[in-house]
Amino acid sequence: MRLLVATTNKGKLREFKRILEPLGIEVITPYEKIEVRESGTSFLENAYLKAKAYYEKFKMPTVADDSGLIVEAISPYPGIYSSRFYEIDLWGKEEIKESKDEANIRKLLRVLKNEKNRRAKFVAVIVFYDKDKGFFVEGEVKGVITESPTGDKGFGYDPIFIPEGYDRTMAELSPEEKDLISHRGKALRKLYRILKECEKT
Ligand code: IMP
Repeated sequence: MRLLVATTNKGKLREFKRILEPLGIEVITPYEKIEVRESGTSFLENAYLKAKAYYEKFKMPTVADDSGLIVEAISPYPGIYSSRFYEIDLWGKEEIKESKDEANIRKLLRVLKNEKNRRAKFVAVIVFYDKDKGFFVEGEVKGVITESPTGDKGFGYDPIFIPEGYDRTMAELSPEEKDLISHRGKALRKLYRILKECEKT
């Protein structure tokens, strides 16, 4: 089976390939970026908008991931604004110095300065969109936000997120360790199981 992944986020694409290809699913990346206005108010709405837009352009089975970090003390933020938390007005904007990921981390650590409640979770909603069927799956992983970034693997907020039961940040885990417990890993394995069931019917 071949699946188009409706994203140009390199971190996400790497993980989609890493998780789905060993399961026998060929991951196709779009040759052209489509501008999709993520105007939804939930991960599900935004994932749906992306999956539909890419399906309509490429006409092949498509999956779209909308994901982010929800921090209990400021819930539901960064949430659906995770990728551009640095530039939203709330708590003041953060300048980009090295990268957007780094600016997002700097802002979140500033907002959480002196905050005792560091509990957070990563959430991924993945929509599958095809001619005759569509569905969505979800995955989440709970953890805590550190005081400073550590580790150079992964992407996004990984350097400041320690998953429950671990003493290292997500950016210090090996790719295999991350995929086993991550929100995306869990959601993609559910997606795979559903696609397998559909093949039988
Ligand atoms: P989206 O492309 O609108 O779904 O934004 C997702 C954003 O959430 C990313 O740009 C990251 O900031 C954050 N994010 C989602 N998944 C992960 C992850 O696995 N690790 C770290 N950050 C993540």
